[in-house]
Amino acid sequence: MTICSKCGGPVNTSRVARYAAENELQKMGVVLINTVDKHECESCGTASVDIPDLPGLIACVAVYRATMPWRLQGFEIKFLRKAMNISAKQFAELLEVQSETVSRWENDKAPMGPANEKLLRLLTAHTLADRAPGVLHSADTIAQLKISAVQDVAQVPPPMALYYAEVLLNKTAPEPEGVWREERKAA
Ligand SMILES: [Zn+2]
Repeated sequence: MTICSKCGGPVNTSRVARYAAENELQKMGVVLINTVDKHECESCGTASVDIPDLPGLIACVAVYRATMPWRLQGFEIKFLRKAMNISAKQFAELLEVQSETVSRWENDKAPMGPANEKLLRLLTAHTLADRAPGVLHSADTIAQLKISAVQDVAQVPPPMALYYAEVLLNKTAPEPEGVWREERKAA
């Protein structure tokens, strides 16, 4: 049994069936299915959670979002850019726009436009594909997306339901590796 680092009391560990992510991942609508372990002290109530492979999760979320047809909001543009680990300045140079333009996109002050948005999505999928092997995507389907705005509540995208699975990524690898996967069936 684990001991609480604050009070020395007994700590209960349980698997969370549906864990709503926090911070940026929460804004992206991420729900983690049967993956997260929650540790809670029985005496003082101090709680913490374990999320496996956070960099892999971020890559998975970015590639998954790149395949969804709803227009990217400013914070989502920023999430995809940061997931690729490129600065706003590098991003501006890649798309041959001013740095101020990137800032306006990311703060919802100016629309990105469908062509730039598709470039960002393709770049995201291409850059992060190796780190998000559990997400189905192809350059063709992204290029052919009909990107639309979310105009009413009925069109709000469903949460991004993801789970973490142990799979053998490479037949020559000695051990199975973990990989984040999307759950496409209705959550
Ligand atoms: Zn405690």
